[in-house]
Amino acid sequence: APSGRSAALRARMEERLLAARFRYINQQLYTSTSQEAVQLFQSDPEAFEIYHRGFAQQVGRWPENPVHRIVRYLRRRSASLVVADFGCGDCKIARSVRNKVHSFDLVPLSPLVTVCDMAKVPLAAESVDVAVFCLALMGTNLQEILEEANRVLKQGGTLMVAEVASRFEDIRAFMNAMGQLGFKSVSK
Ligand code: SAH
Repeated sequence: APSGRSAALRARMEERLLAARFRYINQQLYTSTSQEAVQLFQSDPEAFEIYHRGFAQQVGRWPENPVHRIVRYLRRRSASLVVADFGCGDCKIARSVRNKVHSFDLVPLSPLVTVCDMAKVPLAAESVDVAVFCLALMGTNLQEILEEANRVLKQGGTLMVAEVASRFEDIRAFMNAMGQLGFKSVSK
């Protein structure tokens, strides 16, 4: 029926519009400092809602969501390890493991979130065993953000980064810079 066709067309156009708005906000997040990201979501709360719906739509199309791999990894290790999830989104990690998980994001998508800029999290130095950035290593002040992860990690703790390969201009330079911050690559 024509009405069914136009409803389907409308749904398809809305999905494309959402994807475009997601890409636009995503690009803004990857090209501004984390402090500017705080401003963005504070001044436009709708942007956050659109971003998250678009994010879920995009990741849903991938063959694997990296957050699931991180959950599998944590389940293989001791549940006594303390985890910090930087840019936690809807807290999939905290909801999927028995560990103590500190979940940080700019806006609370879940009551489990501690709202803060991930460049400055309310945790004591050397208080966590595993720090996670799952599709969340976004600010241009990367060094500051990674130094913050380093500050809260215990000696010998684990940093896990999942990021889209095309986000790296030069993966070797990134690995070298990580080395200078005190991280040793264990697996890639
Ligand atoms: N890690 C989650 C969500 C990834 S989306 C998952 O894999 O499902 C990226 C998340 O990082 C978003 O929720 C966004 O709000 C958050 N984010 C971006 N910049 C941030 C910042 N400066 N401080 C805290 N969270 C930030």
